[in-house]
Amino acid sequence: MATTEVPQERRIVTEIPGPKSRELQRRRLAAVAQGVGSTLPVYVHRAGGGIVEDVDGNALIDFGAGIAVTNVGNAAPRVVAAAAEQLGRFTHTCFMVNPYEGYVEVCEALNRITPGDHEKRSILLNSGAEAVENAVKIARSATGRSAVVVFDHAYHGRTNLTMALTAKNMPYKQGFGPFAGEVYRMPMAYPFRWPTGPENCGPEAAAQVVEQVTKQIGAHNVAAFVIEPIQGEGGFIEPGAGFLPAIAEFCRENGIVFVADEVQTGFARTGDMFACEHEGVVPDLITTAKGIAGGLPLAAVTGRAELMDAVHAGGLGGTYGGNPAACAAALAALEAIEEDRLVERAREIGATLLSRLRALAAEYDVIGDVRGRGAMVAVELVAGGGDRTPNTEALAEVVRHCHAQGLVLLTAGTYGNVIRLLPPLVIGDDLLDEGLRILEEAFARL
Ligand SMILES: *Cc1c(COP(=O)(O)O)cnc(C)c1O
Repeated sequence: MATTEVPQERRIVTEIPGPKSRELQRRRLAAVAQGVGSTLPVYVHRAGGGIVEDVDGNALIDFGAGIAVTNVGNAAPRVVAAAAEQLGRFTHTCFMVNPYEGYVEVCEALNRITPGDHEKRSILLNSGAEAVENAVKIARSATGRSAVVVFDHAYHGRTNLTMALTAKNMPYKQGFGPFAGEVYRMPMAYPFRWPTGPENCGPEAAAQVVEQVTKQIGAHNVAAFVIEPIQGEGGFIEPGAGFLPAIAEFCRENGIVFVADEVQTGFARTGDMFACEHEGVVPDLITTAKGIAGGLPLAAVTGRAELMDAVHAGGLGGTYGGNPAACAAALAALEAIEEDRLVERAREIGATLLSRLRALAAEYDVIGDVRGRGAMVAVELVAGGGDRTPNTEALAEVVRHCHAQGLVLLTAGTYGNVIRLLPPLVIGDDLLDEGLRILEEAFARL
């Protein structure tokens, strides 16, 4: 059932994008709403391992994994086989009409692998945004409170409620309001930009959050804190040490539901199955999506049984949530993560990325910060010479060079000055090395 194996070699046979991609781009502009962007308009023919092959016959190195989705690889053979087997039996019944085992099995698996050994329940949905919305619904229903606390630089999705939770106006919110109410934004422990230095960042930021929540909202009015344990679109901001545990403790003391949005950080990406584990934080609810099913659309909320079961029967659901093929894919992806030891592999990839990029940072002072964990690593570009002004020009040049050389590279950051590296966890060392060499070259040419 699996497609022919994609050779694990970069190969550039046309300019990037090539003539067939440019022709498709022309058709696309006449057919697809222009509000949907594309980082690199190279049209895909097939993909696997660490390679994306385009319609012109170019083979690009993949440092994006479809935004941290194909952690187990694109068209991973186990995922393809499991989804195909399921598709051959039935494609859909709607779990709310006639249930099926795959949905239950995915929930059992999520309850087992997410942090904490308390009793848990899960619900399956279609997208990360939908998972976050449902986490808020559950927290409000369970607590009888309405306020939701989120953070600077946060990204939680593009639906109305999740736009309200997301921090950045352009491009996510501009012109799309009015937004949902009872959302309060707090400072984020951003070590690189913390005024008194990274060592003080975690505790000082936590103290500010506690002070502001207490004074501005009243802890007893807060249903939930929603936080990414490492912020994704915000620029791979790993909160200062101690911040997450302090926030989780404040939530526990005040009956607030602590929601970890692990949509981007989940499923081995950060060198733990979930990023919360790094500081031993046990969330009350955890939202997952991206890396869950090897590229098929699936999302989930998993959490404490008493919270999850507080919602009345019929209060949660959706037509497609937990589609049977996506469930089969998720079970196969999870098997791949566990059997192929992808948590360990993410740590190895992280060690390689961090050592190479830190060496690069020592050479080029436009690199202000190198950060991240596991295969979720970022480079923040600044003016240089001690000036931390975001450097979007250098970013554009570096990315342009990498794309032209056949390296799929993504950007991020509130200030649009962060390169983010998210290779599939099955990428080989050769391709990882070659991708890094292209990136090194890009800095040398600046
Ligand atoms: C991508 C993302 C979302 C939204 O997921 P979609 O599937 O695009 O709706 C939510 N939270 C985080 C942390 C994300 O990275």
